[in-house]
Amino acid sequence: MHEIRVHNTLSGKVEPFVPLEPGEIRMYTCGPTVYDYAHIGNFRTFVFQDILRRFLKLRGFKLTHVMNLTDVDDRIIANAAKAGISIRDYTEKYIQAFFADCRALSVESPEHWIRATDHIDDMVALIQRLQKNTYTYPSEGSLYYRIAKFKDYGKLSKIDLTGIQAGARVDNDRYDKESARDFALWKAPKPGEHFWKTPIGAGRPGWHIECSAMAMKYLGETLDIHTGGIDLAFPHHENEIAQSEAATGKPFVRYWLHAEHLLVEGEKMSKSLGNFFTLRDLFAKGYKPSALRFALASVPYRRQLNFTFDGLQQATSSVERLRNFAARLKQEKFPAGSQPAIAERIAKAADDFDAGLSDDLNTAQALAAVYDLVREANIAMDKGEFRQGELAAVQELLANFDRVFAVLEDNDGEKLQALGYTDASSGLGDAAIEKLVAARQAARQRRDFAASDRIRKELAERGILLEDAKDGSVRWKRK
Ligand code: AMP
Ligand code: ZN
Repeated sequence: MHEIRVHNTLSGKVEPFVPLEPGEIRMYTCGPTVYDYAHIGNFRTFVFQDILRRFLKLRGFKLTHVMNLTDVDDRIIANAAKAGISIRDYTEKYIQAFFADCRALSVESPEHWIRATDHIDDMVALIQRLQKNTYTYPSEGSLYYRIAKFKDYGKLSKIDLTGIQAGARVDNDRYDKESARDFALWKAPKPGEHFWKTPIGAGRPGWHIECSAMAMKYLGETLDIHTGGIDLAFPHHENEIAQSEAATGKPFVRYWLHAEHLLVEGEKMSKSLGNFFTLRDLFAKGYKPSALRFALASVPYRRQLNFTFDGLQQATSSVERLRNFAARLKQEKFPAGSQPAIAERIAKAADDFDAGLSDDLNTAQALAAVYDLVREANIAMDKGEFRQGELAAVQELLANFDRVFAVLEDNDGEKLQALGYTDASSGLGDAAIEKLVAARQAARQRRDFAASDRIRKELAERGILLEDAKDGSVRWKRK
């Protein structure tokens, strides 16, 4: 087994990973803000942390992993007030949708799923510690963190703050602050919106204090790993460090791991560009959860991931190939005996697989090791050279692969139905598409162009494009 190395944003380097307690890892992941459905960019980051946790478990570590649901922030409070419902009622729908999305993508449940609104007391207690250490000051009913007092501010993001002038707009707080960089720990209530009555006054927590308070409550004052998307490094994680270390005087996190963003066809995802996708959008177009997981997992987390429909189609084929190989191992009878050259080849693939993941979670390298072996083993089987004696070793490698990548089980359809994304009749699988295409052809042949246009439109709405060839045949593809 190879030494595990990870890129630590704090040092800016790839370093050997050694947990504080031998064999045990305490890890925190910033979860979703549940005011809407999560998008595939969010899931790039959540699949990355899932691959990380699964790999660490495969390597025998005992994991305590906490992920929070940010079920209170300015947008949530304002939207709930507008709808005239409680925060719980407003967020419940998106929390359930997020859990379903996680199950669809085989994102394992962390040891603790926690909600910010269940931890207001812990946040207040942490703010009181900061008050005692004189890191806070009040202004217009809110409480701010005094960054000038925390000498290490900026050590994570290495951001140069000298250019930020007092009064410049660095966040959305429109309150009076001593310095533009200072951030709210506790915010004064807004008229008509929900607030908590607490010993530090009425109001609501700032976003950053949520994660500091919850992470330390479940994982102690020094964590091994903290993960999130790269956009969280500043200011969110920088502020988490400032709050936690000012309260405890101890290092807050030993390894910070950040995932680069997902782009769609080379562009930032945005609703106005029409390139914004939730999982539901893709499943409705007929793509499989396993293909999406594979597409998100296959690009190493520190590289930007350019999501394309071609790439998703390729991921579909890759998963198919791997499933076919697993089925072949199960079904075929191989001649007895052993082939030392093939045995060696399998051992090398297993070693390369571990080497890839140990090297800062290089999923592309780990996958290449498995693909190469699958190709060569298929050839050996076709030639009748593969022996029974190697079966267990290949199956073990495939099982280890799947403990991390989790795509081999052929259960996409059942999963989508069980999780309520589709009913049995409305999933647009290949067979359903072929049927509609044939119906359109029939309509054209009887010159019923209204009917044929209707079918073309219906398919287009579900992401299927038709190309009419000169010879009268039709090809279809997914958008
Ligand atoms: P949010 O729900 O906005 O708090 O985001 C949840 C997680 O998704 C955070 O770790 C973000 O950094 C991450 N994230 C947001 N947009 C993207 C993106 N386009 N690609 C990858 N991760 C993202
Ligand atoms: Zn956080």
